[in-house]
Amino acid sequence: MIFENVFKSLVDNTNDVIMVMDSTPLEEGGPFIVYVNPAFERLLGYTTDEVVGQNPKVLQGPDTDDTTRENIREAMASGERIRTQILNYTKDGHPLWMDINIVPIFNEQGQLAYFAAIERDLTEHKMLQARLEILASTDALTGLPNRQAFTGRANKEFSRSNRYSRPLSLIMIDVDHFKSINDQYGHAAGDHVLTNVGRILGDGLRDSDVLARIGGEEFVLLLPDTPMTNAEYVAERMRLGLEVTPIKYQDLELTITASFGVAAISPQDETLDQMLARADQAMYEAKNKGRNQVKTAA
Ligand code: GH3
Ligand code: MG
Ligand code: MG
Repeated sequence: MIFENVFKSLVDNTNDVIMVMDSTPLEEGGPFIVYVNPAFERLLGYTTDEVVGQNPKVLQGPDTDDTTRENIREAMASGERIRTQILNYTKDGHPLWMDINIVPIFNEQGQLAYFAAIERDLTEHKMLQARLEILASTDALTGLPNRQAFTGRANKEFSRSNRYSRPLSLIMIDVDHFKSINDQYGHAAGDHVLTNVGRILGDGLRDSDVLARIGGEEFVLLLPDTPMTNAEYVAERMRLGLEVTPIKYQDLELTITASFGVAAISPQDETLDQMLARADQAMYEAKNKGRNQVKTAA
């Protein structure tokens, strides 16, 4: 074939991993690897001699997803092409996320002869994606979940509570006279205070509790499996914690207080927003009554 050298050169020089398997059925221990390109050897760390004749499952490992494996097996058994993402392992056990495209190759008689797998390393891409997901859900100043992340978590807990008739409470928290901190000491002082307020509020919470910063100087605490009485106790503990913990800034010691509104899930609640609105209302009541206090929603 006149193009044979051209194809060989492409396969040898590409940075994409190429692996060819025969069509030996599963029951006979197949398929078996019949060819790998230099990019395969470089990335996976095996030489051609080490993998030819092996089943490609040598590339899989403890965290390779069973459903993905099953999907690949099914596609290959029915001679169909498949594109998916799979966790492979290098010869020395290093995990690699691969984008994998498996194509059946038929002979002149129309019989299934080979499978060609064209693969690309997605590890960096996956890591970047994970980092972006964390960034997108985290408030940069306090490191707490942001409003978007909170809403996601809270909606899940809201549905769970409804489904299993479990208690659920919310505490809205708004720092008192925060504007005056900025006005008196500057924005950097305000930022420093917010970071420390986040830290103090987070003290002694359970792993399942979700504390988030949802606005400038507004925080919210979601308390799964917690009825109103316990939530009120938690809010009072937070209120006192803030009041008695001066925040050091340069040579200043700033005493910060906040107002708290507590709401518990009720059978009338159809959405999380209704609960949030009641907690908000209770928080405004605490403001109106003179701040630095806890109010509960009806
Ligand atoms: P109140 O007791 O009624 O809650 O009064 P307040 O001053 O806390 O409330 P107000 O909503 O009037 O002011 C909030 C201020 O928070 C205004 C805004 O400039 C400031 N702020 C919002 N986000 C940030 C931030 O990220 N850093 C700093 N330093 N200030 C912020
Ligand atoms: Mg506010
Ligand atoms: Mg405020």
